Amino acid sequence: MIAPSVPPPFPLQWGFTTRLDSPNSAPPIRLKQIHGCEIHPANDEVQLGDGLWTTTPGEAIGVRVADCAPILLAGLAANTPWVAALHAGWRGAVAAILRRGVRQFEEQGGHPKDLVWAIGPAIGRCHFEVGVEVIEAAREDSTWRDDLATESPSGKFFFDLHGFLRAQALDLGLDMRKDGSINRCTRCEPELFFSYRGGDTEGRQWGWVQIGEKN
Ligand SMILES: [Zn+2]
Repeated sequence: MIAPSVPPPFPLQWGFTTRLDSPNSAPPIRLKQIHGCEIHPANDEVQLGDGLWTTTPGEAIGVRVADCAPILLAGLAANTPWVAALHAGWRGAVAAILRRGVRQFEEQGGHPKDLVWAIGPAIGRCHFEVGVEVIEAAREDSTWRDDLATESPSGKFFFDLHGFLRAQALDLGLDMRKDGSINRCTRCEPELFFSYRGGDTEGRQWGWVQIGEKN
């Protein structure tokens, strides 16, 4: 498991699994992910959506990805530990799932600048070739910059999903000193990461978080 590269704001376990982690170490499945932007408070049901948050110590929450970006958030909201896990492919990023997550934290009494955050391993711009429709959708976002995409030899575009999410995070008031992101490409390291574009239609890695130390 790869941990975010910044210290957590309170005792917790968190990180991004790889092929090397035992499936038994993963949290229970609580989401049916649909590349949308709905975020729910975690419970024991399997909910339809792409993000979970909790303030319950010992409740492990996570998202499963293979090229999409897992995002972990942790901060004190009104002195209460709050954590979230979000699933963001380009659709989720364009639908502003990160904004929804940060807004949820604010609704619990938190301030965005206090969030410790980490975008996990995802397909890098080196491999994330997309059609013009993806770029056109992303351009609608107020944080878009033209350097987040470059034209590919085949006339499509290489899209910097990680950079796009980071631009959104900073625009939301997240603190760049509390950024523990792991900027590694899932397609570039097949021995370590599952990659949908690399042929892994079933295998997934987790981005997950749990308030409290290991028992
Ligand atoms: Zn790559």
